[in-house]
Amino acid sequence: MKVLILGSGQLARMMYLAAAPLGIHLTAVDVSNGKVVNPLTKRVLTQSLQDAMDDADAISVEFEHIPEPLLEQAQMTGKFYPSMTAILTGADRVREKRLLDKLNIANCPYAIVTDVAQLDDVMAKLGQELILKASRDGYDGYGQWRLRSADELAALKQSLAELDLQKVPLVVEKKLDFQRELSIVGMRGKNGDLAFYPLAENLHHQGQLHVSVAPAPALDDKLTAQAREVFTKLTEALDYVGVLAVEFFQMGDQLLVNEIAPRVHNSGHWTQQGADTSQFENHLRAICGLPLGSTQLLGVSAMINIIGYGSFNRDMLAVEGCHLHWYGKEVRPKRKMGHFNLRAKDYTQLAAAMTALSGYLPQSHFPMLADKAAELSTL
Ligand code: ATP
Ligand code: MG
Repeated sequence: MKVLILGSGQLARMMYLAAAPLGIHLTAVDVSNGKVVNPLTKRVLTQSLQDAMDDADAISVEFEHIPEPLLEQAQMTGKFYPSMTAILTGADRVREKRLLDKLNIANCPYAIVTDVAQLDDVMAKLGQELILKASRDGYDGYGQWRLRSADELAALKQSLAELDLQKVPLVVEKKLDFQRELSIVGMRGKNGDLAFYPLAENLHHQGQLHVSVAPAPALDDKLTAQAREVFTKLTEALDYVGVLAVEFFQMGDQLLVNEIAPRVHNSGHWTQQGADTSQFENHLRAICGLPLGSTQLLGVSAMINIIGYGSFNRDMLAVEGCHLHWYGKEVRPKRKMGHFNLRAKDYTQLAAAMTALSGYLPQSHFPMLADKAAELSTL
């Protein structure tokens, strides 16, 4: 079988690594130039884009910010999953909010802003602490601005002045004082079968994911049921095939959707060592029409992102249950370079492994690790 992925970064690379044992030949498209590449070696292949599409049994994406003509070309083949609509929805916060509202799915209170002059009214409605998000092309906290009080409004309006908000509106959200962030990663097969991983707890720093713990500690069944219901509504509405991730804010016993990601997701990387079948393999199984793999847990897991940092040896592999996934990219500030997966038999042992791992790594680049370990050790 052959699979073509639009996008050739680390997610395509990890799908490639999951595809090999299944006998699935996976190639990727560098969306900046339309060239077909091997996502592991980055070698440019001689095959044309159209030939690669014709040749593939299934086409999918590794991220949602794909030029629309390319999406159309993929959709035309009739073998593009999850679907053009799903990708466009994940890529545009305005569309995403519309879908959530239409399906009556609780999400973060917001306003759509097409002119900075509207911000005064928005403040009156949503409060003084706001998060402004470009509706398109934002990820990892890029394309976001924060407002802490009315005093900052004038300066913020100035820094937004050069944006064309008619063309790319802002989704302005109330800054929520949530208990924690959770996500669900699951998949839907071509026959409508659903499978889920347990909810993960996600720790962000400066708008970027740093640590996921799965299953999220102290999960009650009601939270899981809510997340699954949201997942089911979304995937049915979109007639979805493949892995979908939904990010939530937990407010008391309610989950509010932050955003959806129509693809394999960073908060599901722990499944590489922590579950019977990884999210990467399950995405491939879903889009190729194969039976979904078991999501059975092999223990409790933590995933620790390596961000903007690469000057380490590999001595930390001595930590029990520690696995490194290095993406082979050039180091740049704020860039996701790789991740560690830790797997242990319970949270106490997981906390010990996290503490041990933090001993090998600078606090400056891994600011959440030691504290989370300390918290988990008291569970
Ligand atoms: P990513 O690509 O990592 O998912 P993103 O750029 O798509 O990030 P969001 O998920 O919208 O952006 O926001 C990143 C993080 O910023 C959230 O995970 C959360 O920690 C914080 N955040 C976003 N919106 C809000 C909000 N309304 N209230 C409080 N915190 C927020
Ligand atoms: Mg997010």
